Amino acid sequence: MNSETWRSRAEAVIPGGVSSNVRLSAPRTCFTRGSGARLFDVDGREYVDYLLGQGPAFLGHGHPEVTAAVAEATSRGMVFGAQHTLEIEAAEALVEAIGWAEQVRFGVSGTESDQGALRLARAATGRRRVLRFSGTYHGWLDNVLIDFQAGPTSPASEGQSEASLSEWIVVPFNDRTAVENAFAEHGEHIAAVIVEPVMCNNGVIRAAPGFLELLRSLCTRNGSLLIFDEVITGFRLARGGAAEFFGVTPDLAVYGKAVAGGWPVSAMAGSKELMDLIASGRVNHSGTFNASTMAAAAVLATQKVLREQPPYDGIAAHSATLTTGLAEIAERHGLPLAIQGVNAAFHLGIPKDPASASPATCYEELAGLDLARYARLSHRFAEEGLWVAGRGVWYISAAHNASDAEKALEAFEAVVSKDAA
Ligand code: PMP
Repeated sequence: MNSETWRSRAEAVIPGGVSSNVRLSAPRTCFTRGSGARLFDVDGREYVDYLLGQGPAFLGHGHPEVTAAVAEATSRGMVFGAQHTLEIEAAEALVEAIGWAEQVRFGVSGTESDQGALRLARAATGRRRVLRFSGTYHGWLDNVLIDFQAGPTSPASEGQSEASLSEWIVVPFNDRTAVENAFAEHGEHIAAVIVEPVMCNNGVIRAAPGFLELLRSLCTRNGSLLIFDEVITGFRLARGGAAEFFGVTPDLAVYGKAVAGGWPVSAMAGSKELMDLIASGRVNHSGTFNASTMAAAAVLATQKVLREQPPYDGIAAHSATLTTGLAEIAERHGLPLAIQGVNAAFHLGIPKDPASASPATCYEELAGLDLARYARLSHRFAEEGLWVAGRGVWYISAAHNASDAEKALEAFEAVVSKDAA
């Protein structure tokens, strides 16, 4: 049975044939398995994967140590309605890796751990407003989902309850003056600032030098909490995430994706003092599947691999090879290409005006990129065996090697040479 047939079966029983709206615009390949940095589909085709399932497969697909640990743990049952030994060891491993936090609470998705952090910040400060940045993503729930094209607090979905969207204060990323003005005007009402230290959901835009430090000092001065949404950056930029990478310590942070090598796990982290609000029952955070044996074993094994075989230097080298190669191919074929990001995640954009192709510093500046053209190209990359996101981000895993880069560059050139012609 080929992808086409599987696709019609999928569309019959799953809305749009996919289980997350993010996948609606992806090529409708039907995969059978992933191994390391490669994916295999029902049509017998092999792909080099720079999407990593939108980031989680940071150790590569089916990492043997993590897979074995999960299999062993689940053979003993999954959830017991109380704590188990692996869960405690996993929490200790995370506290050690994160460095600045004293306690963690496990969840199942970034979306819900973001909710936990926002609730905790409001409870701790007794305030309602939260400052965030246009273009960021903090999950798909009613109180966080915004269509930034339509307006700073516009809902992004039909059926969305809009009641709490007015609690947001939204300013452009990296805009120091806008942040200072927001604090000057609303400081006493701001419970928290929530930020992706590298904004990966639109472009891959790094916080400018000094920007996170500014957020840190404004939060401290105004009695607001600083929340790092490290769902993408956590364990990926460095073992201690963006906090380690940038040398700035938040009050709370949220992790997901890479935390468990591809298994569905999230966590929020903070000081014991803040987490005591949960311990005392004043703040509710719950979940039947939180810290299942599977989740805990995946965290523990992933963290062991990251600690004992840190992939960060290898990823930086791989990233340099790829970005140099991509830039060189684009130039040879007359394709304007803006590349920006950090080692383990970078973004490719096609500037509408090649003459003014400076890196974007915020969501608003991404309007200078021809995002639709890149999305079209990404479907053609898939036809050549290169699996990447349509929105321009490339994720590099610990499993990528020289032959993966070579295959990716060949596929990129095959498409770009025809596109430019
Ligand atoms: N925060 C950020 C920064 C994310 O990138 C994502 C997912 N892309 C989320 C939160 C939500 O995580 P999840 O999809 O696991 O709910």
